[in-house]
Amino acid sequence: MADIQALKMRFIDLYGADSAHPIRVFHAPGRVNLIGEHTDYNGGYVFPAALTFGTALLMRKRDDDQLGFASTNFPLRKHISIQELTYRSEDEWINYPKGIAHELLQRGLSVGGYDMLYSGAIPNGSGLSSSASVEVVTAFGLLTMEGHPADKVDIALLSQKTENEFIGVNCGIMDQFAVAMGKKDHAILLMCDTLEYQHVPFDSGEYKLVIGNTNKKRGLVDSAYNERRAQCEQAVRDLQAKYPELTLLGQLSLEQFNESQHLIADETVRKRAQHVVEEIDRVLQSMKVLEQGDLAAFGQLMIASHNSLRDLYEVTGLELDTMVEAALQVPGVLGSRMTGAGFGGCTVSLVHQDSVERFKDEVGRVYTEKTGLKSDFYVCTIGDGVVEL
Ligand code: ADP
Ligand code: MG
Repeated sequence: MADIQALKMRFIDLYGADSAHPIRVFHAPGRVNLIGEHTDYNGGYVFPAALTFGTALLMRKRDDDQLGFASTNFPLRKHISIQELTYRSEDEWINYPKGIAHELLQRGLSVGGYDMLYSGAIPNGSGLSSSASVEVVTAFGLLTMEGHPADKVDIALLSQKTENEFIGVNCGIMDQFAVAMGKKDHAILLMCDTLEYQHVPFDSGEYKLVIGNTNKKRGLVDSAYNERRAQCEQAVRDLQAKYPELTLLGQLSLEQFNESQHLIADETVRKRAQHVVEEIDRVLQSMKVLEQGDLAAFGQLMIASHNSLRDLYEVTGLELDTMVEAALQVPGVLGSRMTGAGFGGCTVSLVHQDSVERFKDEVGRVYTEKTGLKSDFYVCTIGDGVVEL
């Protein structure tokens, strides 16, 4: 995490000193999804964990109705009146926090004037949810400063609504939920349809979770994401011939799907649905094997998840496949898979602690040879959700 004292100095450089109002500091993490990909919008299970690195937000009360927005990650800075919280493309990153303040006002909650400085340690657009981290830390900061209750599930929901409606990104609830509700050394088993959740101890013993960033920007992702969602909806419509009550693929058991999959007319749509139903089952199997402390079995489920995302859901691509294949060649690696929406972004691997350096060297080398891109690796520890520091 960035040095808070240095950030406070930066804040005072930007906004000036003000002994009447203290600077308060909030932090929301990034997140990594360990297994359960493209299941969230199908009403299935996901299994994300909050990271120890994320977005810090420094806030100080103002005596007027202006919101001051600055970030150590972006040059654009602005003061905007709380009367003028509309989406403007030229406001770039500021639309995220603006959208959150707008949503709070829509809910009839007060929002006063504040100067704010963000500082993020999450690579943007890599599938580690820097946008959700910004949204959640803003909602938590504003609610706390205003003295409103800061219920974290509510914060996740209003952050998702902001991303869907204000920003216009059709994401599920997983990212904001993990960022708000994360717990140190625990992953979260979350049912995205009902928001039932459980913190599951994630003790990886001598193994480390290593995130590999392909540094491939997810150009294709928006159109492909919408296409996958539409294909899942098509599968539901076809399956309604047997299950008239069905609204989401996640409501089907693997057995029910296997008995009825012939009803799906289009072969591509059938493959998409097969991925979703089997991936949800893999999340549930993961709970069982992790409870038994069987990390090797969890690693196998990670590999099966990646293969399914590659062959059935078709959201991997050269970069993610190359990184996962190279990872699985390194001794001491139990499993590896793409994480996030796909087409670029990150992989997550379970690597023996003695193999981490070799892993970074070898996977990095093979990856660059085959793709011409540079990779980055983060050895991650599971951290807490949003907090005031
Ligand atoms: P992801 O959530 O996968 O990292 P997105 O494209 O959804 O990628 O969100 C990235 C955007 O979120 C950035 O382009 C920027 O607008 C905003 N953002 C993320 N981190 C920060 C930050 N520290 N300061 C300001 N804006 C940020
Ligand atoms: Mg995002």
